[in-house]
Amino acid sequence: MTEIDWKDKYRLLAEQQGIDEAGQAEIETLLCRTISRLTLAASGLNPNLDPKLKKIRDAVRNGVNPELKATLERLLEALMHVSEQETATDIASTPDLFQRLVSRIKLVGKPAVQLNKVIKQLRADPANASDAQLDELLELIAPKNAIVGSAAKAGLLGRIFKQGGNAKAAGGVTTIDPNRVLLSLLEKLNWPGYLAGEMAALMVRLGKGADAEAWIPVLDDLGRLVTSALGDIQTEMRATEDFLSELTVRLQELDQYMVGTQSDHANSSENGRTLNAAVRGEMGQIERSLSITVDLETLKSSIASRLDTIQKHVNTHLEAEEMRRKSASVKELVLRKRLHTLEDETASLHAKVMSAKSKALEDPVTGLPNRIAYDDRLITEVARWKRTKNPLVILVWDIDDFKQINDRFGHLAGDKALGVIGRILSARPRELDFVGRYGGEEFVMLLVDSNLENAKKLADEIRETVSKSGFHSSAKEKISITISCGISEFREGDTSDEVFARADEAMYQAKREGKNRVVVAGMNA
Ligand code: GH3
Ligand code: MG
Ligand code: MG
Repeated sequence: MTEIDWKDKYRLLAEQQGIDEAGQAEIETLLCRTISRLTLAASGLNPNLDPKLKKIRDAVRNGVNPELKATLERLLEALMHVSEQETATDIASTPDLFQRLVSRIKLVGKPAVQLNKVIKQLRADPANASDAQLDELLELIAPKNAIVGSAAKAGLLGRIFKQGGNAKAAGGVTTIDPNRVLLSLLEKLNWPGYLAGEMAALMVRLGKGADAEAWIPVLDDLGRLVTSALGDIQTEMRATEDFLSELTVRLQELDQYMVGTQSDHANSSENGRTLNAAVRGEMGQIERSLSITVDLETLKSSIASRLDTIQKHVNTHLEAEEMRRKSASVKELVLRKRLHTLEDETASLHAKVMSAKSKALEDPVTGLPNRIAYDDRLITEVARWKRTKNPLVILVWDIDDFKQINDRFGHLAGDKALGVIGRILSARPRELDFVGRYGGEEFVMLLVDSNLENAKKLADEIRETVSKSGFHSSAKEKISITISCGISEFREGDTSDEVFARADEAMYQAKREGKNRVVVAGMNA
């Protein structure tokens, strides 16, 4: 380091120029003021120098003195160090600082590639960095339209985007370009397709380097677009809600139909299962569409397509059901015809059976009820007698000497005689009474509500009528005929066989007593 004696130099210079003491004092004052202003001007250039410069300013207030001399010497020494430091402080020798600076630059895409390229070049050969390279670096990290003169001129938006750290730096204020920030913001947002044109126009207006104050109309327009987009979104949401509620109604109707189908057509369960599986498949597709589709129109189209498919399944099912129904209807018709035929046949058969039964109960010779009919009727009348205790009387009739009639006039004449006597027997009793042919030339009567006296009286009248009527054979000869009768009444504890046996015995008694007479059982004639 070179020692410089400022005082000696100053005195020498004064002597050389022939300056007197007073002139020297004036010059010294001027020098001190100059030094003071120089230190002020140099303040802020280097933090290490600032305190030394202040000390010099303080020192020169007292004029040039030893203190000033020592201070100036320390400043000089410090200046030498500063010079040395600045020599060493190039890009290549301070990689950490440079690296940190570079890492703080947030660029993407093409600018980032360019930045890497320039930094690589600068780091490879920092000593020979060209102005063009430095300008390129500067433009990349701080584009020209992002540098404004001062915070005061930047206006409100400029002050907002001013970088706080650099604002205090001497020589002006570096701000973030609001256009770039807003453009970047607009690019990152997802705008509906139909707003693309207007957004592109807004971006062009921002890209022209309009100053921050010119933003106001752009922001107004942007606000209008956002409000419009918001309104559209709300409309779309309402449309979505409407569509989903309509979809819900359609699906509910479908579900109700499915339930109805399954309950109403139990016989077509296979058809129902097929339809059910098909519809469930389509419903699954709709659910998947709902989860992956974000665009309402696409969603509507997808769901409408699925619903159409479901409708087709339902139609197919309905057609199958209709065919099944028609087939069942034809079968039902055939079945109904068969049923009618069967009913007719049954009715006919019933009539035949009734007829057969009637014939089975009827004696063909006399037309009177036969023995089977008598047995049936006896059961009924005995039951009634037991229930009502009203009188019940059995009359047993036997034609006298009938064998002789057959023998004399033939069996046909005998049959004729049977018919005549049958008509006489059945003519008298009341409607509730019973008259039948018991067998051979024997007849039987059941008299209801008649006591023995009335019964005997009736029997005698009938016997009388028979004896008087006679009948004509084929030879037109009148043949007389008589009939005998035995009567017995139902008494407490009697069985029908016992009563019949008593009446039969009474009838034989009448035969024994001469025939053509009536005998009441238990009563002597
Ligand atoms: P009685 O006075 O003692 O009764 O003498 P009866 O001749 O009537 O009695 P008998 O028992 O000896 O004969 C009955 C006859 O009745 C015999 C039979 O040929 C005749 N007979 C029975 N059923 C029929 C019939 O359906 N038609 C005809 N023609 N004769 C019959
Ligand atoms: Mg007989
Ligand atoms: Mg007889």
